[in-house]
Amino acid sequence: MSTLNIYNPATDELIIALPGDDAQSVAAKARSARAAQPAWAARPLEERRACVEMFRAGVVRDLEQLAVTMTRETGKPIRMSRNELNGLLPRIDFFLAETEQAVAPETVFDDGGMREQIGHEPLGVVANISAWNYPWFVGCNVILPALLTGNAVLYKPSEYATLTGLEISRLLHEAGVPRDIMVCLVGAAEVGAALLEQQVDGVFFTGSHATGARIAQAVGRRFVKLQLELGGKDPTYVCDDADPAAAAESLADGAMYNTGQSCCSVERIYVHEKIHDDFVDSFVKAVTGFRMGDPMREDTYIGAITRAPQLDVLEQQVDDAIAKGATLLVGGERRIGAGNWFDATVLINVDHTMEIMREESFGPVIGIQRVKSDDEAVRLMNDTRYGLTAGVYTRDEQRARRVLSQVRAGSVYWNCCDRVSPRLPWSGVGDSGVGLTLSKYGIQAFTRPKAWHLRTPA
Ligand code: NAD
Repeated sequence: MSTLNIYNPATDELIIALPGDDAQSVAAKARSARAAQPAWAARPLEERRACVEMFRAGVVRDLEQLAVTMTRETGKPIRMSRNELNGLLPRIDFFLAETEQAVAPETVFDDGGMREQIGHEPLGVVANISAWNYPWFVGCNVILPALLTGNAVLYKPSEYATLTGLEISRLLHEAGVPRDIMVCLVGAAEVGAALLEQQVDGVFFTGSHATGARIAQAVGRRFVKLQLELGGKDPTYVCDDADPAAAAESLADGAMYNTGQSCCSVERIYVHEKIHDDFVDSFVKAVTGFRMGDPMREDTYIGAITRAPQLDVLEQQVDDAIAKGATLLVGGERRIGAGNWFDATVLINVDHTMEIMREESFGPVIGIQRVKSDDEAVRLMNDTRYGLTAGVYTRDEQRARRVLSQVRAGSVYWNCCDRVSPRLPWSGVGDSGVGLTLSKYGIQAFTRPKAWHLRTPA
């Protein structure tokens, strides 16, 4: 048995030392899940749905305690922890409402004698290796449809959100999901790596590009289904006909919400030269109004940076930009003392020679670049190896559609940003990943299609 220490990133205090998994315990749990899965899949969907309904009731009942746990281990401001939990409820409702239809057998041919049907069978045992930044969202996007469609789940939450992972697991067990069907593994990278050694039928990963590439290598030769939801460098373009103040207010929130630690945070902004200065004034005003501090305070907007090493990344990106000619308007520094803190930071006069416009920041820093035309904006938006989300602010829907249809991204936004809907597929292109969650396709993702050829005897 190993030990996993959980620290509060806002104070550096040790919250708890948890007994962790090791290679042997992971292997034993994977074997039990394999043995138990067929009986789970054989239960009527109604029974699995009843478990998820009870899970939902548990989330509602325990919401405040769950929010406090998440805030303590991740540094997420308490209001945003509550928002995440409240935002989870419509996702659960979506999965409850849509699973039956999404996996119903589909008759695609019938001439009276011969019928052809597409069936959807569970993959079997799926591994879910997850991130810490929205642990309820990214965990449940996989766990709930996987369980509803009859899979067993070996879930390795991030070492920075393990208490939350254990709560997800506890509530599912209390709701009637067998312990060998919903398995939470405790540990860091080595436990994730041990999980990949097991005989699983699908690997669903949410995390960084670097780890995603390692995981793809580890499972590549085994021909199991692999989904990777990775990082982004999400751009937004503000056109000359947009209201600069309204766009700035919306985008300041899109860039800084969750302390900029969202996979779909706005990471770079291009503003038409005609409204650039007005936009920047409003943007800076909005950002300086964001209160940084104790994540447990109701009025805190900027919380702690969850992983201490990210402070170096942020500092490096800001220093690199300034050295190459950028102008720092606010912030730019890490705070010395207990906890991981970085000021909300705004840079202008940036360009694509700078890391801040090319590499994921994953923190409260943003570069704003002046552009002369839609064509220039499109070229810069596509000048990236990532492709998660992209947005445009304009009064003109046709203009927005024209721009967004040229941008390589899994999700596109007109006059909004940093938004995820359970009804729409969530996916990335390029280095932002492969596969998808959410929508009916994100339910079918946990099944394999089976072709049924059925001849009725004459
Ligand atoms: P990370 O890659 O550091 O860790 C993710 C998970 O992988 C953790 O559980 C970790 O323990 C595990 N892991 C690390 N090394 C491993 C290995 N060699 N083998 C197996 N498992 C291993 O990422 P993170 O810091 O937790 O998350 C932040 C990243 O996630 C950001 O890049 C963010 O953009 C991305 N993200 C993407 C989405 C999306 O939907 N596309 C959602 C949330 C976060």
